[in-house]
Amino acid sequence: MPEFKQSSKLHNVLYDIRGPVLEEATRMEAAGHRILKLNIGNPAPFGFEAPDAILVDMIRHLPHAQGYSDSRGIMSARTAVSQYYQTRGIQTIGVDDIYLGNGVSELISLSLNALLDDGDEVLVPTPDYPLWTASTSLAGGRAVHYLCDESEGWMPDLEDMAAKITPRTKGIVVINPNNPTGAVYPKHVLEGILELARRHGLIVFADEIYEKITYDGVEAINMASLSDDVLTLTFSGLSKAYRVCGFRAGWMAISGPKHLATDYIEGLNLLTNMRLCANVPAQHAIQTALGGYQSINDLILPGGRLLEQRNLAHKMLNEIPGVSCEQGYGALYLFPRLDPEVYPIQDDERFALDLLKQQKILVTQGTGFNWIAPDHFRLVTLPDVKMLEDAIGRIAEYLEGLRE
Ligand code: PLP
Repeated sequence: MPEFKQSSKLHNVLYDIRGPVLEEATRMEAAGHRILKLNIGNPAPFGFEAPDAILVDMIRHLPHAQGYSDSRGIMSARTAVSQYYQTRGIQTIGVDDIYLGNGVSELISLSLNALLDDGDEVLVPTPDYPLWTASTSLAGGRAVHYLCDESEGWMPDLEDMAAKITPRTKGIVVINPNNPTGAVYPKHVLEGILELARRHGLIVFADEIYEKITYDGVEAINMASLSDDVLTLTFSGLSKAYRVCGFRAGWMAISGPKHLATDYIEGLNLLTNMRLCANVPAQHAIQTALGGYQSINDLILPGGRLLEQRNLAHKMLNEIPGVSCEQGYGALYLFPRLDPEVYPIQDDERFALDLLKQQKILVTQGTGFNWIAPDHFRLVTLPDVKMLEDAIGRIAEYLEGLRE
């Protein structure tokens, strides 16, 4: 028999959030160890429950959700998304501009597959949410990473972005609020990116899945609300703010000069039709989620659990010698730096594995987010205060061992 090999298309594809370190953690769990998993932004296992109204409504609709839906999704959900964007100052997203998907993940891959020819380039941040880089590669394109500058609170470096635009560049990915850094971009930064897109005829891919999770009075601005002359694909969904990652409910909304994108939109429609439709029961949750009580605010405002956890994690990390951590003004993550003079780490996957084996703590190494050096890691701020104290205490203990 011949050996069965994976496609060469996968050679540049990386998704370490669920990579070898997690596999080791799973083996250790099977052997009876209790692992504190600070590696995935999945609220449910940390005791965050979805609003009751969402569950009740989804159950109520189950009997009517047995068949395929329209490929782009059911009308009530798309109408709710369109109305939501109207309240956010975006008037130009109609129901036909909205695509519901099995999470944002499916739509990221669909949007790139419909666009890229071999060798086309997409500007993706470093550090990034690695699905953007992986999906660009899988679609035959090349992810070119623009720097987010830690010394500037992880803001995108517009000069670096501009310098990396070539005749092959098709689009710019903007993740705001950001995973993994927690940065939330102010208006002038978003306008700077839009100006580059306008000047060079690029599409903006605005991944705004954390738009409702911000702290300290900072608000996330929707990219699409700032221009009507740049083609913008906005991505969001129910996974994070409504805590139902497992439902796989996300959407993509097209705005801007759609008349210049009729061919691309035809491609999007073709791929959307080919996968028939997104999970229909979860589509029924969207209208209720967007129209109902926004319980996420109880978690992020003063006294809220997510805010308290972020505060504690940020403080404790910065108290560890040789560790510095920018404040995360949004999302569910912190991305601390390990001073290379104190911790001369060569291989940060090895670092994450050793931390796991010694302290039973699972984090994701920075290079898993296409970060340029082995000197960062990401942790999620979802565990309750007690668990975070324990986990970061153990990280501090492990790092103390490295300093000796
Ligand atoms: N985009 C970002 C920035 C994310 O962090 C995630 C999940 O962690 C996704 C997209 C995917 O979300 P979904 O559950 O909607 O597929």
